[in-house]
Amino acid sequence: MQFQRKHLPAQKTIAMVAHDHMKDELLAWAQRHRAQLSQHRLCATGTTGRLLAEHLKLPVECLMSGPLGGDQQIGAGIAEGRIDLLVFFWDPLCAQPHDPDVKALLRIAALWNIPVACNEASADMMFSSSLLDVALERRVPDYSDYLKGRT
Ligand code: PGA
Repeated sequence: MQFQRKHLPAQKTIAMVAHDHMKDELLAWAQRHRAQLSQHRLCATGTTGRLLAEHLKLPVECLMSGPLGGDQQIGAGIAEGRIDLLVFFWDPLCAQPHDPDVKALLRIAALWNIPVACNEASADMMFSSSLLDVALERRVPDYSDYLKGRT
């Protein structure tokens, strides 16, 4: 696998998603990390974003609701290099109507090598990283050989 370097500014774009039974947990987590979150650009699926904006009193770009396409919008943002981190509190105990979209979002995050936190412990670790608030160079997979092989 080849890689290319991508410059990430100190201010990153952080996407957040929480399934319905996980929303309270995400709101409590976000409140604890409000000061750090306020230093970055935030976006979220529709309901999650509205709740975050109300609770945190911070600007949050609200995409479509997850089951209506919001997860796929976040996936597109990752593929296009517009989203740098994902905090995704998915529900391990409840089947989702948009389960294929959930899987697709996790796949695209892995494909593009972006940091993903899927529970509170991981999100705490992510937000204690010294890399979060500084400009840095990130390795991004370079799929040009893969694309050449498809012609
Ligand atoms: P919501 O979507 O923020 O609109 O509730 C979250 C999801 O289920 O993907």
